[in-house]
Amino acid sequence: QEDFETRFNIPHITDIFHDAVPIPSTFCLKMRTPVTEDFAGGYPSDEEWHGYINKNDRVLLKVIHYSSPTSAGAECIDPDCSWVEQWVHRAGPREKIYFRPEEVKAAIVTCGGLCPGLNDVIRQIVITLEIYGVKKIVGIPFGYRGFSDKELTEMPLSRKVVQNVHLSGGSLLGVSRGGPGISEIVDSLEERGINMLFVLGGNGTHAGANAIHNECRKRRIRVAVVGVPKTIDNDILLMDKTFGFDTAVEEAQRAINSAYIEAHSAYHGVGIVKLMGRSSGFIAMHASLASGQIDICLIPEVSFNLHGPHGVLSHLKYLIETKGSAVICVAEGAGQSFLQKTNAKDASGNVVFGDFGVHIQQEIKKCFKEIDVPVDVKYIDPTYMIRACRANASDGILCTVLGQNAVHGAFAGYSGITVGICNTHYVYLPIPEVISYPRLVDPNSRMWHRCLTSTGQPDFI
Ligand code: ATP
Ligand code: MG
Repeated sequence: QEDFETRFNIPHITDIFHDAVPIPSTFCLKMRTPVTEDFAGGYPSDEEWHGYINKNDRVLLKVIHYSSPTSAGAECIDPDCSWVEQWVHRAGPREKIYFRPEEVKAAIVTCGGLCPGLNDVIRQIVITLEIYGVKKIVGIPFGYRGFSDKELTEMPLSRKVVQNVHLSGGSLLGVSRGGPGISEIVDSLEERGINMLFVLGGNGTHAGANAIHNECRKRRIRVAVVGVPKTIDNDILLMDKTFGFDTAVEEAQRAINSAYIEAHSAYHGVGIVKLMGRSSGFIAMHASLASGQIDICLIPEVSFNLHGPHGVLSHLKYLIETKGSAVICVAEGAGQSFLQKTNAKDASGNVVFGDFGVHIQQEIKKCFKEIDVPVDVKYIDPTYMIRACRANASDGILCTVLGQNAVHGAFAGYSGITVGICNTHYVYLPIPEVISYPRLVDPNSRMWHRCLTSTGQPDFI
């Protein structure tokens, strides 16, 4: 452990509790022993081939070597030390576990907005807990609210209950924003005798999970709190991708294609598609790249002018003149500076955004009316349809592995952690490291430049 930087070390309940037991034999991985005599000498003996993750196993966070921070761009984890190798804990089953399965009462809670794959993760957590031998598994209904609302009773979960839940989108347990304070939640954990809490949610939910973890340590109660990041926007730091993102990009193709057909079939047709992305434009960028049907992609990270000779509307006029139609993709958080600020907040305290899709539609109509050119603008907002989808195959696999690893992490005694995928390997990260700010599209990154090459749009400044 000393060989690694301490930055990504993850909290372990051994700061208070020390009694470990062996992992149930259900998780004994039957490893192949080496076949060639040549290598056999240097290999572990038969008994040592078990395949458990050693607590010192690490994954390299960035496999690329940057000769200077200037070539790293947003990929640079820390602007001052892009060349430092950073290692994070490898996820998976440990040989020693810190909870006796028969003494575990595990709870699962889903908070924030919907995201494809929530049910897949719930299902896999339940299935894995059962394989460890856990009998008491419950779902907390409607997010953190379920801890305080006396009307809401916990939902008993078993393999039978969750068997087919991944076949539909949404969350079996329900979601919510806002809710009780941290000490009320921990009181409720104590009352219910919950000692493993799996929290599925975004940055807000994870901030809550970390606070619950700290409160449990403060009260010296033996609880493992493990997060599974749920952000359709893919805006969690350090991770290759989060579940639901792939599905969202795929589902967005249908909306983009419809917008394209509408625009193409109309005289001077303009299609506008609004996609998710409050602060990060990953979905809009990837959906534009995937479809090849987008002429203008607008994301929150890249500022643009609407009016003026280099503005979006001027380019749109050019597209109508030359191509006869155009399709625009806007991320939810793009162009917020053009809208009236309302100061409205949701129950969790997040700022409610204005609808830039509606705004740009009106501006396009106004602009073309002024120059007396007919234009037929169609606006498609598929966001709620995308959020409610079931996970696609690739997200299904991601959810399965994340769900299993969440359980392995809790049994291994880690708490205040979240699971993710870094460089195609599954890892545990300390929660504060991933929620300090949202991961953003770097306007200087290769990917954004590839997107611009694909759409053919200029800089709108
Ligand atoms: P989404 O990506 O869908 O917005 P989220 O997890 O960020 O997901 P929020 O509605 O912001 O969704 O928060 C979910 C829950 O976490 C709410 O119940 C909220 O009260 C709680 N929460 C948000 N921020 C914090 C915080 N800083 N500390 C403790 N709890 C928080
Ligand atoms: Mg959030």
